[in-house]
Amino acid sequence: MFIAHLPAGYLLGCTFRSCQAKLVMFAALLGSVFPDFDLLYFYLVDGRQHHHHTYWTHFPLLWVSLSVLAGIWVLCRRYSSVAWATLAFSLSGVLHLVLDSFVGDIPWFAPFSLKLYAMYHIPSVYKPWWLNFILNWSFLLELAIIACAVIVYRLRRYRRRES
Ligand SMILES: [Zn+2]
Repeated sequence: MFIAHLPAGYLLGCTFRSCQAKLVMFAALLGSVFPDFDLLYFYLVDGRQHHHHTYWTHFPLLWVSLSVLAGIWVLCRRYSSVAWATLAFSLSGVLHLVLDSFVGDIPWFAPFSLKLYAMYHIPSVYKPWWLNFILNWSFLLELAIIACAVIVYRLRRYRRRES
């Protein structure tokens, strides 16, 4: 997934009701793109030798475990905005990996196995490589997520003005 992670994180952040709504939304947005911060390591340190989805930042076990721990924290400290923000951050990371799994490879059983799984493989037809993703039907999913996020954003803004 290329451009829909942040809008997807926004949609996830909208599902939370919290007294610290801005903090929780910020955490959801940060979590939605955090796994791809490994691209800095990929380009600056690793010299593009390994697929960045094989780094620990794209290990589902990490994000699911963090989500479970944050969920327990929320259950114990229901009024802790930091607990809610941590839950939003970690669930957004899980969502990132689910969305990456549509056309990108994710090691769902890492660190036990680095075998990569994808729901759909995009054929390599065009150059540069990213054109294959943008000109594939699967890109419509990204556009649909972005459209949903824009609609929800405008609705929330409209309701805020009305109240
Ligand atoms: Zn990613």
